[in-house]
Amino acid sequence: MRLRHITGSEEFVSDSIYVIQNKEELKGEYSEKLFSNKNPLCLEIGMGKGKFIYEMAKQNPDINFIGIERYDSVLFKAIKRREKEEESGLVLKNLYYMSMDARLLTEVFSAEEIDAIYLNFSDPWPKKRQANRRLTSPVFLKLYEKVLSTDGHIEFKTDNRDLFDYSLESFQENNWDILAKSFDLHHDELLSKGNILTEYEEKFSAKGNPICKCIARKKK
Ligand code: SAM
Repeated sequence: MRLRHITGSEEFVSDSIYVIQNKEELKGEYSEKLFSNKNPLCLEIGMGKGKFIYEMAKQNPDINFIGIERYDSVLFKAIKRREKEEESGLVLKNLYYMSMDARLLTEVFSAEEIDAIYLNFSDPWPKKRQANRRLTSPVFLKLYEKVLSTDGHIEFKTDNRDLFDYSLESFQENNWDILAKSFDLHHDELLSKGNILTEYEEKFSAKGNPICKCIARKKK
């Protein structure tokens, strides 16, 4: 994605009360020490401007959410958006952000600490030599496998058919079951129920692109 650097975004993110600054210290104890409850913990990796995870957290107050984004200029926008939403008086206690590359996932989360991972409109990295950067590549699936609980699952959405086909194959070749899939989510009666649109999903479906979705779980 094209990225415009925002001056001061790094300082803003590292001072924000919404951003987890002491990740390594909280490893294995996010629910108790950060959220003060024992609710399930879900992640969105590559949350972008954060619309999806914000709505998820709003609609599911009994689930804890952490949004992960590696670019502070993008996270900056998510925080600004949230601050604006919270001017209405509704302050979400079940949503925090992390400024981090998802490659470091197992350094900040313990085994089986996570109940679900959402991957929305992940960067396609179309060149073969960059395939390991795709968030559904075997490199990342190995990390997800470590932090997800036994029943934990991944929900993946994209309008990029090549990336979707690659991802289905990657899940299957790495021993994940595909629990559900659709090549046209918005016209799928079952999977579209309660679907929360991401920023990219709004943009691409407005152009007429069908949205693909799959739900995958590691074989037991
Ligand atoms: N999920 C949002 C949506 O659907 O509107 C944003 C999609 S955008 C194409 C992908 C986002 O993932 C970008 O903001 C990018 O910085 C982030 N991203 C890509 N690889 C990442 C990684 N390894 N760790 C953390 N964030 C990543």
